[in-house]
Amino acid sequence: MVRHDAVEAALREATAELAAAEIEQPHRDARILLGHVLGVDQAGVLRRRGADLSSAELALFANAVARRAAHEPMATILGRREFWSLDFIVSPETLIPRPDTEVIVESAVALHAERPVRRILDLGTGTGCLLLAALTEFPGAWGLGVDLSPAAAAVALRNTRALRLADRAAIMVGRWVEAVEGRFDLILCNPPYIREADIAGLMPEVAAHEPRMALDGGADGLDPYRILFPEMHRKLAPGGTALFEFGIGQADALLDLARASGLAVVAVKTDLAGHPRVMIMRCP
Ligand code: GLN
Repeated sequence: MVRHDAVEAALREATAELAAAEIEQPHRDARILLGHVLGVDQAGVLRRRGADLSSAELALFANAVARRAAHEPMATILGRREFWSLDFIVSPETLIPRPDTEVIVESAVALHAERPVRRILDLGTGTGCLLLAALTEFPGAWGLGVDLSPAAAAVALRNTRALRLADRAAIMVGRWVEAVEGRFDLILCNPPYIREADIAGLMPEVAAHEPRMALDGGADGLDPYRILFPEMHRKLAPGGTALFEFGIGQADALLDLARASGLAVVAVKTDLAGHPRVMIMRCP
């Protein structure tokens, strides 16, 4: 006689539903979502094999699977994403932290091994991932994260507390540097840099589910840099460094903008796939 296994059956059905919706790793996502619903890790899911699932657990799982089948990103269904080995709360109002963005933190750490960092500014902080990752690397520093979206700022604030960095971090709602006082040793920024016309063509996880405000860089994707590069003279402390993420194919235009703004480009760093991704600048 075949033993009834509710966990196996639920996983099989969910995998089929996700595969039909053209989700890339249907079995993996189904297992992770079931673990999320049950509040256990993957080993815990295996241990539940052969056991029953309650109707509440089945309903929650069905809901999570339906969201994933509609191409909602795993991170917003789970409400979390790892960045710089830290656990970040994410919401549909925040950009999901990307591994490529870690290049900013890595570069800042390398550049400021000797140069002191007291004040850090993160422009368009979203989840707060850049600011909070940097604060863990510079234990003597204080930081400010700014976001135009109050909903994103609220998530960043929750992350300052969840990561026990609230005593060294402030989060503010604002348009770029408009209401920011003082100068900073490190300015970090992963601005929206997708060309407006390209957004609809991105994968549905991004185009339909990530906040447009966090993606849309205007007609050529460069609007934020045009606004921000000229501000660096007023916002960087002597010896301070600005690190900006940018998109594929934007490096040359950014070099021109940096030059036009009187900034010295220290280096351009590549991402994990070898694309130029982060521009590092100082005031000469
Ligand atoms: N700073 C956040 C990140 O890097 C948000 C960036 C954004 O919303 N464009 O993930």
